[in-house]
Amino acid sequence: MSFFRPELDRLAGYMPGEQPQDTGWTKLNTNENPYPPSPLVVEAISDAARGRLNMYPDPHGTKFRKAAAEVLSVDPDWILPGNGSDEVLTILTRSFAGSGDQVAFPYPSYILYETLADLQGAPCVRLPLEPDWSWNFDKVMPVVEKCKLVFIPNPNSPSGNRWTWDDLISLTPPRGVLVLDEAYGDFADYPHRGELLNSTIGSQVVITRTFSKSYSLAGIRFGFAMAHPSIIGGLRKMKDSYNCDAISLAAATAAIQDQAWMLANVSKIRATRERLSNALTSLGFHVVPSQANFVWATHPTGEHKAQYDALRARKILVRYMTFPNVSWASDQRLDGLRITVGTDAEIDMLLTALKEIV
Ligand SMILES: *Cc1c(COP(=O)(O)O)cnc(C)c1O
Repeated sequence: MSFFRPELDRLAGYMPGEQPQDTGWTKLNTNENPYPPSPLVVEAISDAARGRLNMYPDPHGTKFRKAAAEVLSVDPDWILPGNGSDEVLTILTRSFAGSGDQVAFPYPSYILYETLADLQGAPCVRLPLEPDWSWNFDKVMPVVEKCKLVFIPNPNSPSGNRWTWDDLISLTPPRGVLVLDEAYGDFADYPHRGELLNSTIGSQVVITRTFSKSYSLAGIRFGFAMAHPSIIGGLRKMKDSYNCDAISLAAATAAIQDQAWMLANVSKIRATRERLSNALTSLGFHVVPSQANFVWATHPTGEHKAQYDALRARKILVRYMTFPNVSWASDQRLDGLRITVGTDAEIDMLLTALKEIV
């Protein structure tokens, strides 16, 4: 007998990528940054640790919001810090999606959105993407128009493609909220800045960002939402009072103030991404042009699971992904390898191994 809510009992639960805790792995499976965070971050963490750990942290993360506001050219009232951007996505779902409110997200994409909606007992609909990862607006708009909440990662995962601002804005539900999950925004050619929110239907659009990828801080849980203060005010009521701890607030504040460090790592990763994409193409893979810190590679043999296993046997971890019910994939099932852009040395190891495998 189970006493859990039926929503929970029905759920398989979100499966994050593998995080082996022993050493010796080349880890290219969960899109972490291979480079360390800014030394100023480490300094800020140790200062915070020597500081007032007996006291509760600032519930509003004021220092962080001021620092972020400056970088993003918005007012601090437009920023809501969270314990990782996944927590921000949870707060958004809990704030907007009641049991009858429809949630939608592109498919194939980040499947956590579906888990969050399921946990709320909110009906969740997949917006099918075309084979080239573009939108067929005639197909998806009738669904979007009935939604309370639409989540779109931009750039998308696992494909790494990015949609235009016009495409995205047209997916705003007329009576609801559009969430642009910009976990990978800093790796794109023209990262969005806050001013774009001011100039559009600002009170219906939320942008989320994370420190786990471009800022090299996946081990510190920190992300934030950026939106019109009327939205931020509501989200604040939903969040735990102390959702961000003193250590992560100090780390994130130092990280966002060192833009030069983050941008230097992003530029190394973008260069390696080009090299990786070209090399995979030479090995016969089809690679989607990526605007993120990973690439989506499929091979005409379709032997992705075997390739993943052979890499794993060599202690190289990539992400093997399958997406059922994709009309344009063979057997309606899309699968492939999502490979994080590591250091040049890591990518060389991967390519050497793949040359033997494929
Ligand atoms: C990594 C990722 C996140 C999660 O970021 P955290 O801040 O580590 O919770 C959110 N959305 C997408 C699309 C991601 O890939």
